[in-house]
Amino acid sequence: PVVTRFAPSPTGYLHIGGARTALFNWLYARGRGGKFLLRIEDTDRARSTPQATEAILKGLTWLGLDWDGDPISQFERKDRHAEVARQMLASGAAYRCFSTPEEIAAWREANPRQPFQSPWRDATDLPDAPYAIRLRAPRQGETVIDDAVQGQVRVGNDQLDDMIILRSDGTPTYMLAVVVDDHDMDVTHVIRGDDHLTNTFRQVQIFDAMGWPRPVFAHIPLIHGEDGKKLSKRHGAVGLHEFAALGYPPEAMRNYLARLGWSHGDDELFVDEQARGWFDLSGIGRAPARLDFKKLEHVSGHHIGIMPDARLLAALDAFRSETGAASLTQRQKDRLMPALPALKEKAKTLPQLLEQARFALIDRPVDPDEKASKSLDSVSRGMLAALTAAVQHGSWTRDELERAAKRVAEDHGAGLGKLATPLRAALAGRTATPSVFDMMTALGREESLARLQDQTD
Ligand code: GLU
Repeated sequence: PVVTRFAPSPTGYLHIGGARTALFNWLYARGRGGKFLLRIEDTDRARSTPQATEAILKGLTWLGLDWDGDPISQFERKDRHAEVARQMLASGAAYRCFSTPEEIAAWREANPRQPFQSPWRDATDLPDAPYAIRLRAPRQGETVIDDAVQGQVRVGNDQLDDMIILRSDGTPTYMLAVVVDDHDMDVTHVIRGDDHLTNTFRQVQIFDAMGWPRPVFAHIPLIHGEDGKKLSKRHGAVGLHEFAALGYPPEAMRNYLARLGWSHGDDELFVDEQARGWFDLSGIGRAPARLDFKKLEHVSGHHIGIMPDARLLAALDAFRSETGAASLTQRQKDRLMPALPALKEKAKTLPQLLEQARFALIDRPVDPDEKASKSLDSVSRGMLAALTAAVQHGSWTRDELERAAKRVAEDHGAGLGKLATPLRAALAGRTATPSVFDMMTALGREESLARLQDQTD
């Protein structure tokens, strides 16, 4: 069975690159009936914070990535890591090194550009002094990784020193912790950023020394900005929460992020079920993907357009709450629901949709802005009064309303456009709004006519 994991360091918010790594691992596991685990790499006590862990879990939840079991704290497993180091010591796969930092520095100075070689590797006469535990790494040959994305990558063993696995203060090193955890968690596939590739040489040496099977490694190229440079704050949004605040719904982010570095033929727009079925390591490219906000908008607009109305309503409500707005009232929801089919056709982001949906969220009396007020002169008020009278009875449909409005405009020797602007002003308090007939059908007869009367009485 496939087991993947996401192993963030809780030192800040969830970065868009981390979110993509998590998504790839999630897609890979979920598409194969496997497990997706979460491990918080909190061994750096100075930099790790519970707030960061919380922010990461919140980000993953927002993105819709569910994990199996409880998140595992790497720090809490430190005794197990130390136990494995001692086991390696006992088997001869590791040895005690008594070199002090000063001695190591002096050795380095005498042997520039060479990996440190401990004099204690083969010593038999050991002092009673503090020591670190080092891996007895192979000195000859090469360490080779068969990476599912990068292909075969290799390094000469003479380039790598005997890494420390347990420090002299008894704490395990990061390299050891990662390998022990991945082994104990039965991780079968390690999908992560290619900035970890050099660590992987070290990690496979530990896997091999323990006689543990190596997982499959897939190192994905990092995300770059639109200019092709490594993504940074300069490029705008980099935290997943920033994309959420811009109003891209989670399903759109999943679609867009899946395509950042992975492809399936020419498919650009897809839903989770398809992505889970298609996702494979062979579809991951070797070139860095570029963040492209235009494309993201397009993907976002598509997903808003195909979202079931109830789901869209929930996404809008959640988005508003995040900005500090009150939850939608039942009345607002009742007005918004019938408006959604028309609104979702055009909006690319949730705030764009909310802006157009404003007419459904406000209550009477509508307070027209300056431009809207200007359009409400005596002539247009007369037209609004005539329209109110014309649509008191009869069926409240788009076609019927449009017919009535045309007739009223004609009776006043004007075109529909002359009526539409004051109508927008009365219904929404703005001159830039969705179609007046869409607004009227969404609001219903009673509310629409009340808003017109407010301006004509
Ligand atoms: N904690 C590492 C990071 O945040 C990931 C380590 C891994 O995936 O093995 O980059």
